[in-house]
Amino acid sequence: MSEPIRITKAPTLKKKPKDSELGFGIIFTDHMFVANFQEEKGWYDPRVEPYAPIPLDPAAAVLHYAQAVFDGLKAFRGVDGKLRLFRPQKHVERLNNSARRMCIPPLDPELALQSIVTVVQTDGEWVPRMLGTSLYIRPTIIASEAFLGVRPARSYVYFVILSPVGAYYPEGMAPVKIRVEERYVRAVEGGLGGAKTGANYAASLMAGEEAKHQGFTQVLWLDGVHRRYIDEVGTMNIMVKIGDEVITPPLTGTVLPGVTRDSVLTLLRDWGLRASERQVGIDEVMAAHRAGTLTEVWGTGTAAVISPVGELAYKGETMVINGGKIGPLTQRLYDAIVGIQYGQAPDPHGWTLEV
Ligand SMILES: *Cc1c(COP(=O)(O)O)cnc(C)c1O
Repeated sequence: MSEPIRITKAPTLKKKPKDSELGFGIIFTDHMFVANFQEEKGWYDPRVEPYAPIPLDPAAAVLHYAQAVFDGLKAFRGVDGKLRLFRPQKHVERLNNSARRMCIPPLDPELALQSIVTVVQTDGEWVPRMLGTSLYIRPTIIASEAFLGVRPARSYVYFVILSPVGAYYPEGMAPVKIRVEERYVRAVEGGLGGAKTGANYAASLMAGEEAKHQGFTQVLWLDGVHRRYIDEVGTMNIMVKIGDEVITPPLTGTVLPGVTRDSVLTLLRDWGLRASERQVGIDEVMAAHRAGTLTEVWGTGTAAVISPVGELAYKGETMVINGGKIGPLTQRLYDAIVGIQYGQAPDPHGWTLEV
């Protein structure tokens, strides 16, 4: 798809909300990016057009068999006024990896990057200014063919929508209470856990709801076979610090390859700290807690960057981590990534892309 991107501007623009009143994923900007795929043509007609509902046949495959993928990244308005995307190439690469797993034809990576850059530039005024706020970018591909047979669809729609989002921590980073999930599983080896696809989210809802009713923020997922090894926390990657080692589960297919996860591992290694990608059992975590060597636990993801875990509940036992307070490494990692995102700190790995 080497066609130029066509731009159709919205005839009237929406009223923008105040930066202090932004939530998450409620408000959408004036424009969106759209491209279509047909088997005979490949991806075609890349365009920016006014934000609007997408016409979809009720028989569209995505509505029945969940053949869809998405990604999530952010644009930040820096302290210098410049707009920066955080690791957009890495997100494009992951979107295509998710697509392959779901038998969706991948996008030309150049075009996918260009689609994000172009729509963010078009709606650049929508990137909020208050520190901590950002423009959330949601690239999505859905199977649009009207056909009820079970096989990969022959037509798709790719779209990118944008949503200004408020500071994840308006009152500063806050540790959360997590319940270790013993009943439900999110993903199994060979399944969809490594792909960013709505089906994983549908599978996770019930556990999340039950945890919330019991006063927890989210669940810690264990592996689906042994119900022993930790996988992810809610929709974030998990990291535990035991002694001087930071441990996160390896990418064996049940864990989503988080861009924040990768950024944190890189920073830890830059700083000369020990960062391991290996399986870690909940029994090992509990033993470390009893021994006093489990010093910090946090989740990583684009929305929050870092989410400190203050409490882990498992089999009637509550592990309070670092007195329920934010640990020093948790804080250092958060500050380092946010500093790069807002152009306050040097970017030695070239993670940001100015738009
Ligand atoms: C998106 C996602 C993450 C975090 O990935 P980032 O690239 O860091 O935002 C972790 N786990 C799941 C299940 C996800 O969907």
